[in-house]
Amino acid sequence: MAAKLIDGKAIAEAVRQEAAEEAARLKELTGQVPTLAAVLVGDNPASQTYVRSKGKACEEAGLGSITHRLPATATQAEVEELVRALNADPVVNGILVQLPLPKGLNEQRVLDLISLNKDVDGFHPMNIGQLVMKGRTPQFIPCTPAGCIELLVRSGIEIAGKDAVVVGRSNIVGVPVAALLQNADATVTVCHSKTKDLPDKVRRADIVVAAIGKPEYVRGDWIKPGAAVIDVGINRVPDPAAKSGYKLVGDVAFAEAVEVAGWITPVPGGVGPMTIAMLLVNTLQAATLFADSR
Ligand code: NAP
Repeated sequence: MAAKLIDGKAIAEAVRQEAAEEAARLKELTGQVPTLAAVLVGDNPASQTYVRSKGKACEEAGLGSITHRLPATATQAEVEELVRALNADPVVNGILVQLPLPKGLNEQRVLDLISLNKDVDGFHPMNIGQLVMKGRTPQFIPCTPAGCIELLVRSGIEIAGKDAVVVGRSNIVGVPVAALLQNADATVTVCHSKTKDLPDKVRRADIVVAAIGKPEYVRGDWIKPGAAVIDVGINRVPDPAAKSGYKLVGDVAFAEAVEVAGWITPVPGGVGPMTIAMLLVNTLQAATLFADSR
């Protein structure tokens, strides 16, 4: 029997609608528009598209959006100075530095500079530290991992007591999503490129999160019947039938997995739309923190 589709577009739309209501409430309460500032350095086309989409999503939900553009030739000191200015700017609630930064700039130093109370991407080591420590509450949860959990919760998929396998251990997806699943009382196995017998590990999972960056790497016969499959991967593969010459596929072989899984996210239209929706949620949380601190 085919799996139920987890409709990321519809769930993200619901989150964005709730964000719009919360933005209006905060504006009424504080007289300030919750505002996200994006820092875009250089002219990477994908980064430009992401920043534009984030700005549009903010505006549609009634949040303020400011984009600071610096040329690819900007120095480390110039980028850092901008981040410091945004940290100090009371109009700015959340700061997002679009990655990757052009070669020659030290990303880590820039990210570490972002004020903890404005780190809406949730990548500050302090935020990640709080996320993985038992009993601690991070200020912000990184958007894509938070989106994965939101998809499970809003689809009514139980997490507590389940066996979860996360394939991938990156700082931006694998590690935080594993921490979130563990915090939600799943028993979590984190797999990576040196994992032995990966198919065997995945076969034990009630919940699979694939964040590898390899097209259709997880095959259908690795999936336990009835499991929930969250495919974070976004990979371009050639498609002569498409006008663009390519199509997007996930890290899971969807056509195979959909026949075995209980629930599955499509690519595109699964995890992708959730990232921006959760960014709105984090920006509103930052605005609430700011309002509470006054
Ligand atoms: P990444 O930093 O490249 O990390 C990939 C992870 O996969 C690493 O931990 C790596 O293991 C592991 N891996 C690589 N080959 C493997 C193999 N053969 N078997 C098992 N594990 C393997 O990637 P990322 O930034 O986490 O992104 C992962 C995917 O998610 C990409 O397709 C990316 O485009 C997508 N993504 C989507 C969103 C969204 O909004 N939907 C957001 C972020 C990322 P090692 O640690 O051993 O190298």
